[in-house]
Amino acid sequence: MLRQPLLMLSRSDKVKNFVTAMPVSSGIVSRYVPGEATQDAVEATRELIESGLHVTLDFLGEDTLDREQADATVAAYLDVLSALADQGLARNAEVSVKLSAVGQSLADVGEKVAIENARTICHAARNAGTTVTLDMEDHTTTDSTLGILRELRKDFPETGAVLQAYLRRTEADCRDLAYEGSRVRLCKGAYNEPESVAFQDKHDVDKSYVRCLKVLMGGAGYPMIASHDPRMVDIAGALATRNGRAQGSYEYQMLYGIRPDEQKRLADAGEKVRVYVPYGQEWYGYLMRRLAERPSNLTFFVHSLVSK
Ligand code: FAD
Repeated sequence: MLRQPLLMLSRSDKVKNFVTAMPVSSGIVSRYVPGEATQDAVEATRELIESGLHVTLDFLGEDTLDREQADATVAAYLDVLSALADQGLARNAEVSVKLSAVGQSLADVGEKVAIENARTICHAARNAGTTVTLDMEDHTTTDSTLGILRELRKDFPETGAVLQAYLRRTEADCRDLAYEGSRVRLCKGAYNEPESVAFQDKHDVDKSYVRCLKVLMGGAGYPMIASHDPRMVDIAGALATRNGRAQGSYEYQMLYGIRPDEQKRLADAGEKVRVYVPYGQEWYGYLMRRLAERPSNLTFFVHSLVSK
């Protein structure tokens, strides 16, 4: 019931200004975001890698309408990639990029700027010995993001895609992307989407997730199962067995701070597990989406606000 209002608030500048006066170190923020600086992200990455996990780093930011801001985001990615390489972490850590943070939403020139910027990040990632995955945002950007992915994959075939099971189109997109070498992260989807394009009922989203998993696990690509849902994790495991997939020919992915014991349990069982680690000052939209998934955290959130 609270999911929709929270997702609407995630795009409100007024609420954002109020909430972001809260320090990143306050309980609810630090549960999901390890810090604002590159070094905070690198430290969190090191700890996760030392405990047997892999990492994908997201420099927080989205819906950038300012070219300078987009360039600053690119610079932040170059900085973290060079830190990962220098500190010997790049083998087990990659980056996730939101195209709207690197210029996709700029009027007229958005796609052109986003592709140039994404290309710069892909180059740096390759030089560091790692890869980039393009996050997926709301449905108005899906075609543009998949178009940019196709362009990038001509030179950087290792670039990962994200597909969202709540979109009605996604099963077909999974079929298109289930080819050899194609890294595809399957998630349920985190935005507020209309019924015309997205399943609204949680059971329908789950059923779609399973249909998409079947396509990806039965295909020739590299599926990345991004879910904390125990049933989806079990079904992915069963599909791996049914399709004769060895551990490491797919991976599980979860968000920083969510079900850490399960992340460790899977890794201890020999599975490849990657943790998505967001960092930076622009944590507001990300935090609101996490609250929308888990409104029971709201009490904790309100407490952080009133005691700030
Ligand atoms: P749910 O049914 O929502 O949750 C299953 C269980 O997980 C819950 O019962 C609870 O125990 C736990 N859980 C879930 N969310 C929380 C939370 N916030 N706090 C505490 N416990 C929780 N979405 C996009 O739209 N685009 C992306 O690019 C994208 N990238 C992602 C990358 C990764 C690695 C992951 C894991 C998710 C990503 N998401 C993305 C978010 C995703 O779409 C879902 O919104 C989110 O993962 C919750 O769905 P779920 O599959 O975990 O299932």
